[in-house]
Amino acid sequence: MRDPGLLLGAGFLLLWGVGFVYVGISSGRRMEKLRTENFEWYKAKYPGYVRGNKVKCFKDCEGRIQMRNLYRRTFHRAHVCEVCGTTLYYSPES
Ligand SMILES: [Zn+2]
Repeated sequence: MRDPGLLLGAGFLLLWGVGFVYVGISSGRRMEKLRTENFEWYKAKYPGYVRGNKVKCFKDCEGRIQMRNLYRRTFHRAHVCEVCGTTLYYSPES
């Protein structure tokens, strides 16, 4: 005898499992981005926009770069152009 409730339960469990794996993969990718797109990366990509410790937006905005804390658990900060809102690079929280 088949139990439709059991089948439904198994279906939910499968969906939950797929969702869990998907979230794991996407947050792993996000962490990878946070780790690789750092100050050194920005300096190498846009050498004309970094002088010593002074960073300028690569879109040539005349403004300051703002530091924003990211989601908890990532332990990284985003460095964002105040003018155009572009995230330039990330740095680990110290
Ligand atoms: Zn900008």
